[in-house]
Amino acid sequence: MSDNPPVVIGAGPAGIRAAATLAAAGLRPIVIDEAARSGGQIYRRPPSGFSRAYRDIYGFEADKARRVHDAFDALASKIDYRPGTLVWDMRDGVLQTLSNGTAREVAYRDVILAPGARDRVIPFPGWTLPGVYTLGGAQIALKYQGCAIGSRVVFMGTGPLLYLVAYQYMKAGARVAAVLDTTPFAAKRRALSKLIRGGSTFAKGIWYVARLRAAGVTVESGITPVAAQSADGAVSALVYNGDKQIDCDAIAFGYGLSSETQLADLAGVPFAFDSLQQQFLPQRDSAGRTQVRGVYLAGDGGGIAGADAAELAGDRAALALLEDRGVAIDKARATTIDDALRKIAEFRVGLETAFPFPAHLAASIADETILCRCEGVTAGEVRASARESNALDINRTKAFSRCGMGRCQGRVCGPSAAIVVAACLNLPLDRVGRLRGQPPVKPIPIAATS
Ligand SMILES: Cc1cc2nc3c(=O)[nH]c(=O)nc-3n(C[C@H](O)[C@H](O)[C@H](O)COP(=O)(O)OP(=O)(O)OC[C@H]3O[C@@H](n4cnc5c(N)ncnc54)[C@H](O)[C@@H]3O)c2cc1C
Repeated sequence: MSDNPPVVIGAGPAGIRAAATLAAAGLRPIVIDEAARSGGQIYRRPPSGFSRAYRDIYGFEADKARRVHDAFDALASKIDYRPGTLVWDMRDGVLQTLSNGTAREVAYRDVILAPGARDRVIPFPGWTLPGVYTLGGAQIALKYQGCAIGSRVVFMGTGPLLYLVAYQYMKAGARVAAVLDTTPFAAKRRALSKLIRGGSTFAKGIWYVARLRAAGVTVESGITPVAAQSADGAVSALVYNGDKQIDCDAIAFGYGLSSETQLADLAGVPFAFDSLQQQFLPQRDSAGRTQVRGVYLAGDGGGIAGADAAELAGDRAALALLEDRGVAIDKARATTIDDALRKIAEFRVGLETAFPFPAHLAASIADETILCRCEGVTAGEVRASARESNALDINRTKAFSRCGMGRCQGRVCGPSAAIVVAACLNLPLDRVGRLRGQPPVKPIPIAATS
């Protein structure tokens, strides 16, 4: 078996637990992550040499972060860890990787995909100005290097990260100009009975809001963004709800998360529309098995469920992989994990109800607003292409308009572009499909492909 080490892509909570389970069974998995250090998004580690206390970086999650980091560090001699390595394509049992400018092929028989998620954005006028960041980007600056994106920051959008990142900024000493949530308060009230099932996770959310309010931060629900304004080329204010304006030197915005699904797509995994997350997701069973032999999914890359679920799903996918290799597994443990994942999924329904993706904002993006910032394509140009080509498929609109053809490969603009096209052709979102994954999944030098 050692001739065919399993590969784990992603060293976040899902990948780390998957690697630990494989190593405990006597295998020596290859663990690949494009980040310089393990931990993934939530447990992202600062560069080595930085010495901030766990409590300062991870807050309530400090103990979990330490446990996950310690678990990974304990694997050092048992895994083949390849940090700083991007997997930019995969097919027919071969991964294409790039590390420090050096391309390398890695053959695989079985692979656990645990690539996590990214911010979900809805373009609005001024979103490409210097000083406008995603919520996740704002958090990475703080978590990774202890930097703030500005000295007077507006947080806008929806989802649990909105309040968490605003709180983290406040605690780090930045001035939070306002927290503006696009979800009406009534939606959160409606979701209360399901949210309560989240126990301490729910309590933490309440606490963040309470602390922000107690510090005098403006917290508003049910807002509609209008535009980011600029002075001297950088953001200077956010306008919302008609002509209300808040001065700021930075904006962090986001509307929940999208799964990173391109590698699953390139591997040939079938996708289906998920009405809860309003996104096409790679299909898998509860253990993480896909219909492509040897390809497993774990964590947010297979559907957003959060860090605790990611740890469980990593463990579970590794058990499935071992079982498929003929290794006897502890079935009772697998059942316990399945039960725990089901419980978390119920809480997830509450979160999606409390913080619904505001598709109406994407559908109504003004014609002149840049939708695809890589290629400079406006929402109006996307609508015109969709109408002219009568493209019932978002990929045809891409071909006609170049929306989604740039460096991000549609990872940023794709979700909103699909909504714009669906609304303009009067079709349900699942009818326009999804942008097909294309290699390279992230930008690489041309030299690496030759
Ligand atoms: C920016 C951001 C910040 C977040 N912050 C929080 C937070 O503070 N609290 C919270 O509860 N949740 C947070 N979340 C959600 C949280 O990240 C997830 O619920 C959890 O981390 C999922 O774990 P995972 O192992 O599935 O993925 P991740 O933790 O995202 O780990 C995925 C790993 O895969 C690697 N990877 C991805 N693609 C490739 C590739 N092609 N090649 C090589 N490596 C690859 C990444 O570098 C990353 O290390 C955040 C999400 C994002 C996107």
